[in-house]
Amino acid sequence: MKNKRTTDYIIIGGGIIGCSTAYNLANQGAKSVIVLEKGEICSGATSKSCAITRSHYSIESNVHHAVESVKIFENFDEIIGGDPGFTRTGQIVLGPEKHRPLMESVFSTQNKFGSETQTLTPSEAGKLHPLLQFQDVDVIGFELRSGYCDPYLTTVAYAQRAKDLGVKIYTATPVNGIRIKGSKKIVETPEIDFETSEIILAAGPWTNALGKMIEVKFPYEISKHKVLTLKIDQPYQKDWPIVKDLLTPEKIYFRPDSGGVVLVGTGDHGDPLKDVETMNNDVEADHIERIGKRMANRMPAFADAKLVRSWTGPYDIPPDWNPIIGPVPGITGVHVAVGFSGHGFKLAPTVGESLAQQVLGNKPRVPIDMYDMTRFREGKTLNGAYGIGTFA
Ligand SMILES: Cc1cc2nc3c(=O)[nH]c(=O)nc-3n(C[C@H](O)[C@H](O)[C@H](O)COP(=O)(O)OP(=O)(O)OC[C@H]3O[C@@H](n4cnc5c(N)ncnc54)[C@H](O)[C@@H]3O)c2cc1C
Repeated sequence: MKNKRTTDYIIIGGGIIGCSTAYNLANQGAKSVIVLEKGEICSGATSKSCAITRSHYSIESNVHHAVESVKIFENFDEIIGGDPGFTRTGQIVLGPEKHRPLMESVFSTQNKFGSETQTLTPSEAGKLHPLLQFQDVDVIGFELRSGYCDPYLTTVAYAQRAKDLGVKIYTATPVNGIRIKGSKKIVETPEIDFETSEIILAAGPWTNALGKMIEVKFPYEISKHKVLTLKIDQPYQKDWPIVKDLLTPEKIYFRPDSGGVVLVGTGDHGDPLKDVETMNNDVEADHIERIGKRMANRMPAFADAKLVRSWTGPYDIPPDWNPIIGPVPGITGVHVAVGFSGHGFKLAPTVGESLAQQVLGNKPRVPIDMYDMTRFREGKTLNGAYGIGTFA
């Protein structure tokens, strides 16, 4: 006979989105909140994240969330409590002439929300990052307030603060069934059945396995993304700005990583995956060679760079490359936050805050209504002006 527990709110998934939402629900006064995580806290996509917190997006609501979230990362200990490992480096964005009007309009949106962005000359940018060359670059933007975090420290800090506020977190507890009985929901795990009235699905790329349990298919696909760290003879300085290179076909980005190395990823679609469970850790030699060439073009000092490490991680990508956040249509009391398409880490502080406000029946401080799942059937998709990719 299984144990039974009753609770007001159940969050499924202990990644950055689930933990931020759990903390924010409790912080906003929810009394009985449970997080169910099949592995450990921060063992899904978040554990593979580069955790860059920049705000250059063509969709205004993404800029708004990214800028308001970075204000939280900057003052995390005071606002949330704990250390997310935030390093402010700023971000340099490099673009071709054809993107000038779009880039300049994004800079002005960023400034409207407070991200302190400006255009730079090559010589000004070279003072911030002495290894870069700009011969093929027409537009250089610099957003001062961007940086990067440690994804594990951040997620665990949210989880710890949620626990301090009374949230119960069950790890090694996979949800293997959800039954809807009117306003009551039974969430089944191997040892305990939980009864609740509100469920928040925050299982990242695994969310459609939960969707199957309630006969809902969330519109997202999954892809495999590859990250490399490279080193050269001189240490890569930890306060050199993050660089986003829109002149490369893969829209590469790179940032300092611990140990004097540089971490490099791509803002493209990645390798399509049918099932997240089939994702492997392979990073092919031709990928390493191609990205190595892009890096050597942007930083000639990297012509003989050595590979230090590589890893892979899954993206969950809706058709418009923007998240799905809000009530699940047709099932009262079930909410979802999925489809973060390579930008979930940086948006998580305000997504968790706003989703908690919405679930509690309050007005979100930073609006999330544009991310509602109904946008796909109502023709209100959030198509980014840069086309597909993480610059949505
Ligand atoms: C390589 C890579 C680099 C990235 N870089 C950046 C970046 O620089 N900046 C940025 O903003 N974003 C970045 N992202 C994206 C960002 O990391 C993700 O959008 C974000 O971490 C997603 O968080 P999540 O909580 O939705 O999902 P996850 O972290 O995947 O969490 C979901 C959790 O649900 C659990 N779960 C699944 N099924 C069940 C079940 N049945 N029962 C219980 N628990 C379950 C999983 O174990 C998992 O822990 C990157 C992603 C990758 C892969």
